[in-house]
Amino acid sequence: MSDIIHLLPDSVANQIAAGEVIQRPASVLKELVENAIDAGASAVQIVIKDAGRTLIQVSDNGKGMSETDARMAFERHATSKIKDAADLFALRTMGFRGEALASIAAVAQVEMRTRRHDDELGVAIEIAGTRVFKQETIHCEAGTTFFVKNLFFNVPARRRFLKSDNVEKSHILTEFHRIVLVNPDIEFSFYDGDEELFHLPAANLKMRIDAVFGSQKKKIQQQLLNIETSNGLVNIIGFIGKPEFAQKSAQQYFFVNGRYMRHPYFHKAVTLAYNNLIQPSDNPSYFIYFEVDPQTIDINIHPTKTEIKFENEQAIWSILSATVKEALGKFNVAPSIDFDRDDAPDIPVNLDIENVKPPQTNFNPDYNPFNSSYKRPAFDWEKLYGGFEKDTKIAPPNNTYSADNISVTESPVTVEQLWIESEPEQQKLDLGGENHSANFQFKNRFIVTSIKSGMLIIDQNRAHTRILFESYLKDIEQHTAHSQQLLFPEEMELNEQDLLHFETIEDALRSVGFNFSERTKTLLIISGIPSLLNASASKSLINEMIDNVRNTGINTAQNIYDMIAFSLAKSTAIKTGQLLTQEEMSDIIDRLFACSNSNYTPDGKSIHTTISHSELLSKFS
Ligand code: ADP
Ligand code: MG
Repeated sequence: MSDIIHLLPDSVANQIAAGEVIQRPASVLKELVENAIDAGASAVQIVIKDAGRTLIQVSDNGKGMSETDARMAFERHATSKIKDAADLFALRTMGFRGEALASIAAVAQVEMRTRRHDDELGVAIEIAGTRVFKQETIHCEAGTTFFVKNLFFNVPARRRFLKSDNVEKSHILTEFHRIVLVNPDIEFSFYDGDEELFHLPAANLKMRIDAVFGSQKKKIQQQLLNIETSNGLVNIIGFIGKPEFAQKSAQQYFFVNGRYMRHPYFHKAVTLAYNNLIQPSDNPSYFIYFEVDPQTIDINIHPTKTEIKFENEQAIWSILSATVKEALGKFNVAPSIDFDRDDAPDIPVNLDIENVKPPQTNFNPDYNPFNSSYKRPAFDWEKLYGGFEKDTKIAPPNNTYSADNISVTESPVTVEQLWIESEPEQQKLDLGGENHSANFQFKNRFIVTSIKSGMLIIDQNRAHTRILFESYLKDIEQHTAHSQQLLFPEEMELNEQDLLHFETIEDALRSVGFNFSERTKTLLIISGIPSLLNASASKSLINEMIDNVRNTGINTAQNIYDMIAFSLAKSTAIKTGQLLTQEEMSDIIDRLFACSNSNYTPDGKSIHTTISHSELLSKFS
């Protein structure tokens, strides 16, 4: 028998690779605009037609390409931006993979015109499905223009997979925002057909944010507070929303070294600083720009992922948290108190990164959870940003950042806040040595157990929610979630807008076990549901998810997975008021402390607290 393994032709290999890089018109736009920025353009013009299905055109006045480079640019792994693996760790450009143009040319009809500023003539190339149809010398402006037509013309399955025009357009705008908000010195214009949606002149950051999100009446600038800090580890500049402008759907952006990123952990640092300042259902806007040594971050190698790993994550978390609190404190405390930089936590220029210690936790010795008359002290602004007055009742502020020990416990406010302060660190409780079969349940809500250092009190519902959340999330991510077919499909009436929101999360819902059959304009038919849920819980889950998307605009797979896992966990967790057996209590304790985060529920509520042995003794002295 003859051999059966052969190499795939380039056109097929590129088309497969394109599946990763080019998922929808928005991916094309992102890649082309990033290339324009990498080419040093000072002005970029974008035109889309039919939500990018029929045309995405990007013109720049950047450096252009030589005739050979123009042809090379479409080869897979062809890049001018890195030479070897070491360069990956010192990236200063947006692109580096060298696969965007090859991927686009594999699944669309592409025309490119380019000329270097010093050349008299430029070159035009036409390429479609990886085949070059034309290459000729032309007269054209200096810079580069791409016309990407009929995306997925040769991949009908992918074309069908595209969502409605509104959804695809909103993806395009998301990418556009992420790019223009971090490149204020570049002029952008954006046309949807003949209609100019944006004209953004070169500006500073604040003016750019205003140009994108503000309106004649509503200047976004007035809603923002400046933040700024700089030290050997990180420079942070940007803007955070004043608490009174918090709303359900907020604009939340992080950028690092000129690149958009998602960072749930830093997000937490910002939102925790707003604790007690805004309604729990509201969200603060923020536009925060980090600059770090490129060697200390790991840009996601995956072409479409925006998560970025920081080497000094905990220290930066603390610095960010202190900076945001400082800005909020300055803004809110009565003007009679004279705030200035001198009062700010001193962030040293030369941090000893090796010995960075996580923030410390303190306790309020007066706190007694069994005493229901204990009232959380009314929130006091002066304590948010400590160092002005020592509060004798509460542990003194420990506002020190020293070279070998970053300890960022600012003025402690309430016990709950103190717990929250310790978020970056997984609270390590020494359960060893004690026999925790001696658990008891208090008020059918708390599990009380003894630990080495004292007494541990766990909220049963929150603990179980955390345990289930992590386990569901794992199922979802590993695609081991099970589905049950419904004998009688359920119907849901949705308005058109909500159907659009639904479309953005449909795939994620399917991956956790939902199935949907054909639907009419306003009727959704649910034919399968996750095996963990019953039909009515499934409907409310879908409703809740649509609410979430409507209110937060969040629709990335990871966020949806989190939301679904959390909703599932909430609806299936042991409730407050449920009587537990000894075995159930031990099981909860063991599983809780095996979780990756045993301190907080996914929505940031404390799961447990301790009363130390010495606190207890002091009550009997
Ligand atoms: P990458 O951006 O990862 O290098 P691409 O496939 O996006 O890979 O682009 C390949 C190469 O084509 C780039 O490295 C660059 O040299 C060149 N190129 C692409 N777009 C432009 C542009 N607008 N202006 C100048 N050169 C470009
Ligand atoms: Mg590129």
